[in-house]
Amino acid sequence: MDLQLSEEQEMIKKMVKELAAKEITPIAEEIDKTGRFPREVFKKIADAGLLGMLIPIPFGGTGGEKYNYSLALEEIAVASASVAWCLAANADVAFAILVFGNDEQRKKYLPALAKGKILGAMANTEPAGGANWMVTLQTKAELIGEEYIVNGSKCFVSNAGEAEIYVVTVRTDPAKGPMGISTLIIEKDTTGFSFGKLEDKLGLRADPTGELIFEDCRVPKENMLGQVDNGMSTLQATGALDCALQPGIAAGIARAALEASVDYIKQRTVVGSKTLAHFDAVQCSIADMAEVTEMLRLLSYRSAFPAGQLDPLIFMGATLSKNLLMDIANKAVELHGGYGCTKGSPVERYFRDAKTFSLVPPTADFIRAAAGKMLLGIPMAPPPGAGGSPK
Ligand SMILES: Cc1cc2nc3c(=O)[nH]c(=O)nc-3n(C[C@H](O)[C@H](O)[C@H](O)COP(=O)(O)OP(=O)(O)OC[C@H]3O[C@@H](n4cnc5c(N)ncnc54)[C@H](O)[C@@H]3O)c2cc1C
Repeated sequence: MDLQLSEEQEMIKKMVKELAAKEITPIAEEIDKTGRFPREVFKKIADAGLLGMLIPIPFGGTGGEKYNYSLALEEIAVASASVAWCLAANADVAFAILVFGNDEQRKKYLPALAKGKILGAMANTEPAGGANWMVTLQTKAELIGEEYIVNGSKCFVSNAGEAEIYVVTVRTDPAKGPMGISTLIIEKDTTGFSFGKLEDKLGLRADPTGELIFEDCRVPKENMLGQVDNGMSTLQATGALDCALQPGIAAGIARAALEASVDYIKQRTVVGSKTLAHFDAVQCSIADMAEVTEMLRLLSYRSAFPAGQLDPLIFMGATLSKNLLMDIANKAVELHGGYGCTKGSPVERYFRDAKTFSLVPPTADFIRAAAGKMLLGIPMAPPPGAGGSPK
């Protein structure tokens, strides 16, 4: 077992680090303050080939390993957790189409996603039900002739309004509970599809998180993703991918918090000419933060291998990474003293991003229960039945 990065991975890391330092770090504070979605950055990220990293070469991607994408997300998250999270949400859509889409859907959407010509969003959460949306799902899709007529609404959708395509969970058979859920690909300009309010969030503020509204929205029936009533499989796979990518993002935010803390305590004088760095208790805090950052990186490495598959490890990894990150962000604020909770201090942003990141889907209670069920041998939901397999 070799935990060293390969030459290719070192190159990816270096390339993304430079790109993030040049294109994202300079605007990170501004996009956090204003909540602006930095579309221009996604163009640069796409040009560098990062959006195609999970997409195979025949579909216009670069076809890399999942861990390479985690490495890239870590470097992006050091500069801006918002941008990293938007990339993870976008990756879900590419992954869902790759695994569950038919050949027409793959040819239509994957090259455009790989080149950044379009962005994607996953829409599951609804105003009623929240974390329990699988049970309470109200957005309905009724097949009439050649179209699904969709009615309902979604909330807290990342990339809302900016994405060109939405993978939307809909109820196709009300009598079948979670087994009557399907996923539709709905394009932004579809008749009957509009956007509601965007949330003014605590953190991850440059991720536009908002409402989707469907009023007699007419979706061509060929936009059904995977088999009818088999949406749970898509959700399990994308939920698992999300979980697998989260330790990498957490490692990036943790690293940023650690680096900012090291810089600060080396220059902050407290007793005579002594800086904070001279004190044992402060040194211990830095060591604790560094240990946990490294642990997050190892988790991201380990979680990337079963990414997209149902493995308790990735669910446990996502939960653990959210909790560990919160601890680091908290320590970073404490080490900065009063300054740590003022606007303009970088750690104030990392703290808000870490807290908000702890609430991104899949929710902690759900994934902890999912891991527990797997460890106890209790079935979670219908067996995965993809419409196709990744090429
Ligand atoms: C930054 C951000 C980005 C997001 N992006 C997306 C996205 O792209 N797509 C999308 O579909 N959703 C997205 N979400 C939504 C997110 O998944 C929901 O916030 C989540 O599902 C919880 O729903 P809720 O906020 O209504 O909380 P509620 O469901 O009201 O839950 C409140 C609390 O109760 C707990 N709880 C709820 N039900 C139970 C239960 N049965 N047992 C035990 N505890 C329970 C929850 O864990 C939570 O702690 C995003 C959220 C955030 C914050």
